[in-house]
Amino acid sequence: MAEVIEKTKKGTPVEETNGVNFWADKQACWEKCHCPEMIKAECPATNYQFVACWEIEGTYCKLDDNGATGKDTSICEVCRVYKKYGNGEPIRIKLFGKGMDTQLKELAKTAK
Ligand code: SF4
Repeated sequence: MAEVIEKTKKGTPVEETNGVNFWADKQACWEKCHCPEMIKAECPATNYQFVACWEIEGTYCKLDDNGATGKDTSICEVCRVYKKYGNGEPIRIKLFGKGMDTQLKELAKTAK
């Protein structure tokens, strides 16, 4: 897995991740949280499905309103998605540099 992640950081297309899909036998976070299309299109959780959302920097829910890059996983610790699928394992970010633009989160809020 580490090798796969390293390649992706360098821009290897997701299709080249040996078909690994963390969500294959689960209800994906964007379904569980009813994310709108606008968010799904941009969130790295949907674009990099070979890792769990809590292992990705800058998912929609990790961003706050102050320009954070989304490294803080404290929200994940109380999230029903992590609680259901995280097996109680410690959260560690594995995929960096693919996060959403915080401005998009602001836009999504005003569109509601
Ligand atoms: S809060 Fe964390 S675990 Fe929950 S859906 Fe967002 S990234 Fe995934």
